[in-house]
Amino acid sequence: MRTVFLETYGCQMNVADSELMAGVLERAGMSLVDRPEDADALILNTCAIREHAEQRVIGRIGDFARYKQRNPAVVIGVAGCMAQHLRKKLLDGRRSLDLVVGPDGYRDLPRLLQRAAGEPVAQVRLDRDETYGDLEPRREPGVRAWVTVQRGCDKFCTYCVVPFTRGRERSLPLADLVRQVRTAADQGFREIVFLGQTVNSYHDGTHDFADLLRATDAVEGVTRIRYTSPHPSDMSVRVIDAMSTCAKVMPHVHLPLQSGSDPILSAMNRTYTTGEFRDVAERIRRAIPGVALTTDIIVGFPGETEQDFEATAALMREIRFESAFLFKYSARPDTRAFTWPETVSEEAKGHRLSQLIELQHQISGEVHDAMVGRDVEVLVEGPSRRGGEEREPQLHGKTPQFKTVVFRDDGTPAGALRRVRIVGATPVTLFGESLAQPTPAPLVTIAG
Ligand code: SF4
Repeated sequence: MRTVFLETYGCQMNVADSELMAGVLERAGMSLVDRPEDADALILNTCAIREHAEQRVIGRIGDFARYKQRNPAVVIGVAGCMAQHLRKKLLDGRRSLDLVVGPDGYRDLPRLLQRAAGEPVAQVRLDRDETYGDLEPRREPGVRAWVTVQRGCDKFCTYCVVPFTRGRERSLPLADLVRQVRTAADQGFREIVFLGQTVNSYHDGTHDFADLLRATDAVEGVTRIRYTSPHPSDMSVRVIDAMSTCAKVMPHVHLPLQSGSDPILSAMNRTYTTGEFRDVAERIRRAIPGVALTTDIIVGFPGETEQDFEATAALMREIRFESAFLFKYSARPDTRAFTWPETVSEEAKGHRLSQLIELQHQISGEVHDAMVGRDVEVLVEGPSRRGGEEREPQLHGKTPQFKTVVFRDDGTPAGALRRVRIVGATPVTLFGESLAQPTPAPLVTIAG
């Protein structure tokens, strides 16, 4: 077993887990390849958060099964959040899958792959102690390094499968994280993004999330620090204070609201009321000038009435998030809400979703229009896909508030900061003009 093709679905936590697996495989002498046809093993790192995501993975397993018909020696593995469900199928005797490995089994991946070449293997045991804190991931090149600071979740929102697929919450030791951040900075990564299901509840037994922000703010070579996703109930005064005083921690908080109705928040087990969410948002805005607040919202949760939905829209208008990920409720097996009758038809969910998309589009458009004429500092990420042969080459990057800016390629390398004047905007993208570096004043010699 020498070569592995690894394909990732789902959230940034999964992307970071794939980087972790890549590190484990490479240390065991295996190499990752870009094409399935060049691989001895094919691994799908999967997501179970929505039914649609699972369907895509099931389709992809079918593609891989066709490779296996041509090359029966190839090992097909499924990793990540769908592993629990797929174990049953594997044990049912469907022989296209050879390996099913859950999120706490990656340390053993090389050995599991070797075994799976001989017989089907399932390793889906959740481990309360596994953090992978001592393992170095093999990061994808770019300006941004994703650093997982916490695994699992203890919140048990009634719609969410994560506590069942990723297990109980545990944090990596602060010293391991500072070491990972230093290594990433030495490798040339300029932006660090801390990841956790409720990242701001980070606690390694001694240090909390505010300590982590302060410790990594001091790491040389790091330009920017971000994190996702915090839980509103864990947004402590200490964390807000650390954000407002650490120069490298960017003014952006992605704060999932999920619903603007108190009865629905309670049914979701979100542990805060709309009033408490409002207070947190206000505290953040008071403490961090220019901060961008973004959010996640679910429509069509069981029991959501027209009145509940209107309350969500009203709170969006009031808080004016700069952007939002908006979803239709998707019932997931194992969750508490799975057994509750769905009271909102698919058609009504679709209608509510389009209304919120339109509302958010309008708000984001207004926020972006107000930025035209302002100067922003952009961390350049590389050439923009908006370039191309018919247009002059363009660069793209992010503002401190994580807004995408596209501007004419002036030769700024990826990873450098560039001041840009915003000259145009859509609800999703800002367009800018690079501001020339101030040229030093010429030396004037006065002849005497
Ligand atoms: S906080 Fe809720 S939605 Fe987020 S991962 Fe935990 S259970 Fe899921």
